[in-house]
Amino acid sequence: MSKIYIALGSNLEEPSQQIYKAINLIDAIDELSVTHTSSLYKTKPIGKIDQPDFINAAVKVEGDISPENLHAALQDIETKAGRIRMELNEPRTLDLDILLIDDLIMKTKKLTVPHPRMHQRQFVIVPLFEINQKLNIPGIGSIDEILKSLPDQGVVKI
Ligand code: ATP
Ligand code: CA
Ligand code: CA
Repeated sequence: MSKIYIALGSNLEEPSQQIYKAINLIDAIDELSVTHTSSLYKTKPIGKIDQPDFINAAVKVEGDISPENLHAALQDIETKAGRIRMELNEPRTLDLDILLIDDLIMKTKKLTVPHPRMHQRQFVIVPLFEINQKLNIPGIGSIDEILKSLPDQGVVKI
């Protein structure tokens, strides 16, 4: 049984509701169960800053699913939430990123695990730390060291 961590983000159309709905839809994927859910966090947009604040969260899920099928199932949930794929860092109704799958390191055209930018983002590391303070990010280091190294990016628990 794999232990999988997923980051959730939304800054359009009632972001908190988008996150709650998405967690239920992830739990409804046949092969998976959500075992841990972080608090919701309000965070400042990065890159394009003239857009609404984001709501971010993280979940831990357990189950047996291939990385490819997991990715497809999460994209399906994003599409159901009305996400229109535009540029990087654009506002979105729902973004679901695969952070970690056990201690797997993989890189294909579609999928890089661990997520290649997770350790630079307070809005990912803070909710992740809330659900597991002992995590190791393969190839990067321990989550408490990463958390300490990050500058304040305006992430507030709500
Ligand atoms: P970022 O990846 O910096 O958080 P983003 O989430 O805005 O940016 P998207 O437009 O959602 O980027 O996704 C771009 C592509 O990233 C997707 O088509 C997907 O195939 C790819 N991708 C690579 N690794 C992952 C991963 N670990 N989780 C989700 N998508 C990934
Ligand atoms: Ca993302
Ligand atoms: Ca994404």
